[in-house]
Amino acid sequence: MHSTETDYLIVGAGATGLSFADTLLKESGAHITIVDKHAQPGGHWNDAYPFVGLHQPSAFYGVNSLELGSGRKDSIGHNAGLYELASGAEVSSYFQKVMHQVLLPSGRVRYLPLSMFMGMSADGANLKSILSGQVTTLKVRKKRVDASYFSPNVPATSAPRYSVAEGVRLVTPTQLTHIWNNIQEPPAHFCIVGAGKTAMDVGVWLLGCGAPAGSVSWVVPRDSWLVNRLTTQPGEEFFQHSVGGMAQQLKAIAQAATIEDLFLRLEACGQMLRIDRKQTPTMFHYATISEGEVQILRQITQVIRKGRMRAIESDAVVLEQGRQAMPRGTLYIDCTASAVQANDGSYNAPEPMFQPGKIVPQLVRAPMVTFSAAVCAYVEAHYDDDAIKNKLCTPVPFPRNIAGWVQSTMGNMANQLAWSADKSLRNWMRDTRLDGFGKLTANLSADETEKLATVADIRQYGMGAMGNMKRLLSGQ
Ligand SMILES: Cc1cc2nc3c(=O)[nH]c(=O)nc-3n(C[C@H](O)[C@H](O)[C@H](O)COP(=O)(O)OP(=O)(O)OC[C@H]3O[C@@H](n4cnc5c(N)ncnc54)[C@H](O)[C@@H]3O)c2cc1C
Repeated sequence: MHSTETDYLIVGAGATGLSFADTLLKESGAHITIVDKHAQPGGHWNDAYPFVGLHQPSAFYGVNSLELGSGRKDSIGHNAGLYELASGAEVSSYFQKVMHQVLLPSGRVRYLPLSMFMGMSADGANLKSILSGQVTTLKVRKKRVDASYFSPNVPATSAPRYSVAEGVRLVTPTQLTHIWNNIQEPPAHFCIVGAGKTAMDVGVWLLGCGAPAGSVSWVVPRDSWLVNRLTTQPGEEFFQHSVGGMAQQLKAIAQAATIEDLFLRLEACGQMLRIDRKQTPTMFHYATISEGEVQILRQITQVIRKGRMRAIESDAVVLEQGRQAMPRGTLYIDCTASAVQANDGSYNAPEPMFQPGKIVPQLVRAPMVTFSAAVCAYVEAHYDDDAIKNKLCTPVPFPRNIAGWVQSTMGNMANQLAWSADKSLRNWMRDTRLDGFGKLTANLSADETEKLATVADIRQYGMGAMGNMKRLLSGQ
């Protein structure tokens, strides 16, 4: 094939693009070109802070054909007893392996790092080399895959949206790990800005490195409900937490009077956690955390709940709902980059995944990014009609608040129902390592009565949940 032609052009060599490429390669004879601005595969993981890690077990993250990690459980730290979580460095090195040991050796994949997709013209896709500035046109015989729809913002590449007075020290989580060689005296105080998973990681890191809890303040514009990581464990021994947890979730949805009541029920049955039990969280972004991390974060008691940061002054912070004095010399750590929202505050609206000349992989099961991309690639390889493909891959919206969890769960259930009617897709899914729990229920024998009862609960409560979800969302 001429090097300026390809069947599929994938824009983005992050988790989505690589997972899509891996499954498409396996399920079709297509030639694939992957283009990315970054110098290395792995997308945002290249820009992550040194102490970042997966929220979820490594066992079902990455691409389908290559295991991530070794399936061991952690024996120390806040994840002790649970399946390993790859560190950011491990995830980056894993995606290098995917590219250099799986995709490129196939002879059907071309990788163009440090290259920008500039748009389509009548002759094909225009790609610009960042190093030479040269623009080439690539003829795309089948489709372009926009694998950057779900691309998160990270602090290292997003400027904060508040002003900072001269002389104030504000660092990113990455800089937080690098500044200490040049510092003689510890900072007067620390202040974490933001309330998402990055902020939680920073809190756990600071306390773990010896910062006294009393020296840390935390600006929390909104409290968040958090997924209890215990419920995301892939092993048989966690069956009642994972599959049983699903039954509990459905039971809670079926019985809840309001969405607030639903989350209290989810907390009561161990599905959800919150850091401060006196607060009623309104945010939910599928941040996944262990009970050990929650215990650590509860030690930070100087929590500033006055809305979003507007400005940092030399001796105070100015927030949406007021001002708060702060010690001079406080070291601020910016954790306000939103993983789910553009830097201007806008959200990507869901769009059909299969469009003329273009595929836009999105979630088909929230929050499973790499599983969803693999399903999208499988469907592209095995079905001809875009209408059928779109029926099998209806985008599941990513939640922005607690009602969003109900919408995502509804979307997940509707897709599952569509897949269950398709035998080949069902069989493929059962064998994919990215589907965390499908295998646990696939081949239960008649003597596994407790597990069978749990599966029956899922069916029973599923019906009630489906019935109650619309009512909960309508607020009646
Ligand atoms: C700290 C953190 C932890 C996370 N942990 C988990 C987890 O445990 N489990 C989970 O399922 N999800 C997790 N996520 C969610 C995360 O979004 C996904 O796991 C995933 O890494 C996102 O990958 P992506 O390929 O969609 O986006 P990205 O990694 O951002 O990749 C998109 C790529 O597209 C490239 N690109 C965009 N436009 C162009 C262009 N015009 N030309 C060339 N290249 C372009 C970018 O350079 C980028 O490399 C986490 C997210 C964060 C921020």
